[in-house]
Amino acid sequence: MYPFHWVPADGRRHASLDKRPWGNAYPSGMLVSTLCSQEVVADATKEAWLWQTCGDCHSEAHRVAAAVREVPRMSV
Ligand SMILES: [Zn+2]
Repeated sequence: MYPFHWVPADGRRHASLDKRPWGNAYPSGMLVSTLCSQEVVADATKEAWLWQTCGDCHSEAHRVAAAVREVPRMSV
């Protein structure tokens, strides 16, 4: 499980490390800090998920995911 989540906002799908208040998505109207260092207002409509991925968030998400994979596994 990666620490970031995707959030449609401002015409793009961004990624964020912010905690989601509930469920699997940021609710519409929530202010979210993105991996591309923006403050955006989440748009949780179905159409919003069809928006293009933000390029900066995409590359930053890959960097975060790689870092997570490098962390030694904890014993369960
Ligand atoms: Zn972004």
